[in-house]
Amino acid sequence: MKALSVLGSTGSIGTQTLEIVTEFPERFRVVALTAGRNLELLAEQVKRHDPEVVALADPELLPALRDQLAATAPACQAQLLAGAEGLAAAAAWPTADLVVTGIVGCAGLLPTLAAIEAGKDLALANKETLIAAGPVVLPALQRSGSRLLPADSEHSAIFQCLQGTPWPETARLSTGRPTPGLRRLQLTASGGAFRDWPAADLARATVADAIRHPNWSMGRKITVDSATLMNKGLEVIEAHYLFGLDYDDLEIVIHPQSIIHSMVELADTSVLAQLGWPDMKLPILYCLSWPERLPTPWPRLDLAQVGRLEFRRPDQQKYPCMALAYAAGRAGGTMPAVLNAANEEAVALFLDERIHFLDIPRLIERVCDRHRDDLRADPGLDEVLAVDAWARRAVREAAAMVAS
Ligand code: NDP
Repeated sequence: MKALSVLGSTGSIGTQTLEIVTEFPERFRVVALTAGRNLELLAEQVKRHDPEVVALADPELLPALRDQLAATAPACQAQLLAGAEGLAAAAAWPTADLVVTGIVGCAGLLPTLAAIEAGKDLALANKETLIAAGPVVLPALQRSGSRLLPADSEHSAIFQCLQGTPWPETARLSTGRPTPGLRRLQLTASGGAFRDWPAADLARATVADAIRHPNWSMGRKITVDSATLMNKGLEVIEAHYLFGLDYDDLEIVIHPQSIIHSMVELADTSVLAQLGWPDMKLPILYCLSWPERLPTPWPRLDLAQVGRLEFRRPDQQKYPCMALAYAAGRAGGTMPAVLNAANEEAVALFLDERIHFLDIPRLIERVCDRHRDDLRADPGLDEVLAVDAWARRAVREAAAMVAS
């Protein structure tokens, strides 16, 4: 029986993780849950999974959570915690074997580090943590021996293709070629909500348009990231940190059907791919069950039903966020943290309808340019947190100027 700490239990990744726990009660149990503001759903989850600890991001919501639990889960014995320390305690909870990181954004960084320092294995969905703080997270993993299992579907596909090769179980810091014979990774992208829109129409894209993803059901932030293709750019940086390849060997290919979840090219030109329906439960389950595979009753892939698998190169003009992400990744150091924070802030402003869709890449580019002279090549945690805060402020200031 594997004991899970589920960070961000009320989100898309968190709820799908708990669905898996419900489906496999003999394999998994929940010992810790954390959430942001959705107290009603959190209380339902407490009632069903009976965790040992529950943590909220905002301490001011604790009284409301107590009321909600009294109404929904009166038998709840869980310890209730809150704030940064509470999230960190839930992430490092002594009885947890595996921590699922489903918090959105850089807010996941400190709880993830707490889990690593406690030696926990991680199912990493919260890619922003690795992108912002790769130079901090990877040495911490090496020190603690925690294993980082990728939950992102593309990285899970790569990880699955590499099973059986002499592959280290933990993430690597090296940016050299990690495995002899591994030449290139191809990350597939659905193309997001605007895949079939002419570039000229993007100027009138609304929030409702951007959060309508053609293939995947996900949280709002990552769905907008898919529409700008920043999500794929962030995944390229994530792949660089996880698998150690140079940026020249990390490619993006548009694959509208989202059936091939990514591909690995070996030195002899052989290509391995992992296929499945676009459903995050599969990569999440693989993290939870690894190195085993559990039989499921889920719908089996039917390629005749799919009919066609198509591929095309992404349009760099239409999706400038991709080039911004590659540039930030290549610059390294604190630049990916600036890119990530600028993107989080710009997407939040877009979701609040305070900027236009096309302002997202403009603001990110402006803020990354401003950071160029201040870049730190090998930052510590404090420097990462400082540039994250600076980039958010810089985006808000620049957005205010755009709006005025
Ligand atoms: P959601 O927005 O659906 O959920 C986010 C979760 O984080 C919620 O539980 C939310 O709580 C909580 N949360 C929000 N802000 C904070 C905060 N400041 N402190 C602590 N907790 C907070 O996001 P997703 O599940 O879509 O994404 C989660 C992560 O997984 C992201 O990093 C994303 O990139 C990654 N990912 C997601 C995929 C997907 O299919 N959804 C696929 C691959 C990666 P509440 O709702 O209670 O406010």
